[in-house]
Formats: sequence, C-alpha cells, structure tokens
Amino acid sequence: MRPANPCDRLIVVGGGIAGLATALHLAPLPVTLLVASPLGQHASTPLAQGGIAAALGEDDRPALHAADTLQAGAGLSDPDVATRVTGAAPSCIHWLVAQGVSFDRIGSADELLLGLEAAHSRRRIVHADGDRTGKSVLEVLIHVVRNAPSIQIMENRRVTDLALDANGAVAGVFCAPWGSNGGDEPVLVPGRAVVLATGGVGGLYAHTTNPLSARGAGLALAARAGAVLRDLEFVQFHPTAIAADRDPMPLATEALRGEGAVLVNSRGERFMQGILGAELAPRDVVARAIFAQIGAGERVFLDTRAALGEQIVSKFPGVTALCRAAGLDPVRDPIPVRPAAHYHMGGIKADSQGRSSVEGLWACGEVASTGLHGANRLASNSLLEALAYAAWIADDIRGMAHQPLMGQPPSPPSALWRGYRSGDHPSSLLWEIRSVMDRQVGVLRDATGLQQAVRHFSALTRDAHATGLRDPTLVSLMIAVAAYARKESRGSHQRLDHPGLMPEQHSEMTLDQALGIAAEIDDETAPPARRVA
Ligand SMILES: Cc1cc2nc3c(=O)[nH]c(=O)nc-3n(C[C@H](O)[C@H](O)[C@H](O)COP(=O)(O)OP(=O)(O)OC[C@H]3O[C@@H](n4cnc5c(N)ncnc54)[C@H](O)[C@@H]3O)c2cc1C
Repeated sequence: MRPANPCDRLIVVGGGIAGLATALHLAPLPVTLLVASPLGQHASTPLAQGGIAAALGEDDRPALHAADTLQAGAGLSDPDVATRVTGAAPSCIHWLVAQGVSFDRIGSADELLLGLEAAHSRRRIVHADGDRTGKSVLEVLIHVVRNAPSIQIMENRRVTDLALDANGAVAGVFCAPWGSNGGDEPVLVPGRAVVLATGGVGGLYAHTTNPLSARGAGLALAARAGAVLRDLEFVQFHPTAIAADRDPMPLATEALRGEGAVLVNSRGERFMQGILGAELAPRDVVARAIFAQIGAGERVFLDTRAALGEQIVSKFPGVTALCRAAGLDPVRDPIPVRPAAHYHMGGIKADSQGRSSVEGLWACGEVASTGLHGANRLASNSLLEALAYAAWIADDIRGMAHQPLMGQPPSPPSALWRGYRSGDHPSSLLWEIRSVMDRQVGVLRDATGLQQAVRHFSALTRDAHATGLRDPTLVSLMIAVAAYARKESRGSHQRLDHPGLMPEQHSEMTLDQALGIAAEIDDETAPPARRVA
C-alpha cells in the first residue's frame, strides 16, 4: 500500500486523542505522525478526568444529548453537527472498547457505569479507571499506534510551518526538533494531506488546567497558511481548578459536583444555591459566580465531605492524588478552587468532514471549530468530538486517496515567518503574555482591557522573531481581536460593557483580517501624535 512518491504521504500532527484516533482510522493508508513531545506527554488528553459523553443509558437518547449540547452552546452550536456527533457517540465508545480501553462497569456486569456532569440531563459520562479516563484511553491508543504497521511515528518533532504549493494548497509541513534553539533549520516533510490535531490554547493564560505547551500552535500554523479561523473569543474557564500554587493547575472534575459536592465561600455560604442549576449550572455560570466571590475578597472551596466522605479516595483517585500532592486532604478539608482557562471552543473552521478552508488541510480535536460546542462546551463532549471527527476525516481522506497528487513542489515558509526559535525566549515575556490574557481576555472582559491587550500583543508581534514567541503572540493577538469584535455577552464570552445579546452570529477571520482589525484598534487608541489622519 505504501505509495512510491513521498509526497503522497499523509501527515497527522499531534499525539493526543485526536491525532492518534485519526492516524488509526486512516489505516492501512501510510501515515506519518509528528508529535512535538514524546507520546503521552504535553497533551491535554491524559489530563481528562471526567470522561466521554454518550447516550447509552436506558433513559437516554442521542437527541437528549444533542439538546443538552445545544443548550450549553448558547445559540452557536450547529444543530446538525450536534445531532451527528451525539448520534455517533455510542459507536465511538464501542470503537475504543475494540481498541482495548477498559471502561468502568457496574460490579462485574457488562453494563457501563454512567456518571453525571453539569448541564447533562442524564447520566451519560463513560469513564475509565475512575477519574483517569484520558490517561487510560491515551495509553491504550499509544500502544495500538506503536504497533500499527501503517503509522510512522516521529516524536520530539515540532511542526513550525505548513508547506504550501504554488496554488496555496498544503503540500507538507516543516518541522524542527523540540526545543531547537534556532540552530536547526526546519526540515520539509512533504505530504498530500495534513491533519492538524495540536490541541488548545490554555497555556496562554496565567491560570490554566492545560499543559503549558498548549499555546495554539495549530491555530498559528493554519492562520499563516491563510485558513479561516472561527469563534476564537470563546475560551471556556473551568470553575474548579485546584488553587494550590501549581502551574498548570490540577483540576477538581465536574463529576464531583455531579456526585453532590458543593461550593462554599470562606464563610461557609453555599453561594450557588440561589442560582438556576446550582452547582450543576453550565460552566460559564459557575465560573462567573466563583470569580465574583473572589473579586469580593472571598476564597472559594469545593466541599466533597458530606457527599463523598472517604469514598472520594476510591471513586476519584486522580483528584485525591492531585490534592495530596498539593498538601490537601479532601477527606478532611474542603478543596480551594478558582476558575482557570480550560478549553477552546474556537479554532480552525472545519466542515462536516473536518476540512479547513485551505486545500489539503484538515483539523481535528480541540484545534478545530466544527460547530459542536458553540459559545460553550458541554462537559465531556470534547474527547467525543475528537473521536467522531477522526473517523470522518479519515473517510474523507481515504475517499481522495486514489486521486493523483495535484500540487507542485512546496515552497519554503514565507520569509516573513522564518527564523523559527522555540527554546530561547525569556520566560518573563511568556509570563507577561499569560498575565495579560488572564487579566484582559479572561472570565470578564471589556473594550478598554481588550484594546490594551491588542496593542500589547501587536507590539510583541512586531518583535516576535527576536523573542522566539511568534506563535503564542500571534494567537493571543487573534483571540483578543475576536473578543474585542464580539460586542455582546454569550456563553463563555462575557463583556462587562456589553451585557446583552446580539443576533446569533459566528465570528470568522483570517490572519490578514485579524491584523487589519488590530491595526485599526492600535491606531484608534494610540496617542494623538501616532494616529493616522
Ligand atoms: C485537566 C483537563 C481535564 C479534561 N477533562 C475532560 C473530560 O473529562 N472529558 C472531555 O471530553 N474533555 C476533557 N478535557 C478536554 C480534553 O482533554 C481535550 O480537549 C482533548 O484531550 C484535546 O485532545 P487533542 O488531541 O485535540 O489535543 P491534545 O491532547 O492536547 O494533544 C495535542 C498534541 O499536539 C501536539 N502538538 C502541539 N503543537 C504541535 C506542533 N507544533 N508540532 C507537533 N506536535 C504538536 C502536542 O505535543 C500533543 O501531542 C479536559 C482537559 C483538561 C486540560
């Protein structure tokens, strides 16, 4: 099956659930899997605690799951996508079982144990090894991928640019060793199809649950290739990251609240009690309520003691271990929590087959904007989305596998963006970006703060080559621009200066458009002497 022409190679970028599932679904077509780090590390997937949503209970149906997804998405989830993905969910679980994943079951019975999470109207969260679902799933997939003859794995290879042919179609990738300090010129890996599965953006925020390497590299790659990006302003903040001086912050999964754990402030008041849905209200509602408590000088705690007592140790071994590593005992004490950047609903605009707007480029997993999550993701829908689209993307690519290679030899990355450096940026500069994102592009936003953020990142973008922070600066800038442009409060995007809703609309932009808006903001808010007449 291996094609003679190396340009016929299929390239998958990313070693999380999206990348591995896509590479496996593509078998027996030959795939080169490029991963910035060793497989299993520096990805969000192994951190996933809650599980994977699928309507498998007797009282449940995919239509109910789709309705909950649309409700959480605050008017911007695509009903067709929600119907399709939730309909595929049971088969995604069966596919994982066929790969060897061992989900938690009721006693020794065959029946899957189904958990409840916020904003789900039924118990439908399938999990493995208690709250270590992501790790269990990823370990199995890594094992299968390592044994798949069709997959060539290249670890510690960071993709720095997409290679484009003369028609602007993707014709491969440039990659450099992870941690390269600029001495290594990126090497071209030609390929006829590239699937980006590079994960999210949480590492751009000072408070995050994501691996710090999750800084939107895939968005930057796609943007520089001319792809349309969608809804970048929608960043989900998980309400209950454990506030224990760790970076990234460990997570106290929503499933704890599903089991009855309550949120209290320093005075022991259960402040969610008067709010619709209480502790199981959508994430943005809970995150804002906690943020308001913190703003009022309170500390916030997740109290699992009455609901779980000692059972937290057996039912949530991952959270218990994370707490204990941070010097906390959740059996005895309430867990201190605060909101942290957790999931990016926005991403590379992808159609029903995961295709981006650039020929030869697909996007899968958190880096994609498929229309499932809208303005707010329903808990445990992201692993599911990655699994569903991995299969559809593979079908799409397989469908064109017999076509002759269209393109011409790829050109090197544009001079504008060359000069790749990754390991030599001062950490203080990265911290500056993360702090600005947290303060001004965080849970609550307003025009003044967003303008400041845009100007800040615009200035950094001009020096990005020198700082080695080209991708994080660019992606932060695009998110801030998108957040500035959305003059309403919807889902996870809350504007203090625009509390109301506008007619439902996605935001779409290319890099050129984002830079154009940034230049306008820069010009409008510059001191008079700098303004263009
Ligand atoms: C703490 C936590 C708990 C979560 N819990 C749940 C849950 O219970 N249920 C749920 O559905 N979702 C959950 N999520 C969200 C979910 O885990 C992620 O959305 C999902 O795992 C993303 O998978 P992915 O494959 O798209 O990205 P990732 O798993 O983040 O993988 C990205 C991969 O891309 C690689 N990469 C990045 N840039 C480059 C580059 N330039 N070149 C080469 N490789 C690159 C990385 O090294 C990594 O291997 C959770 C997330 C977190 C952080």
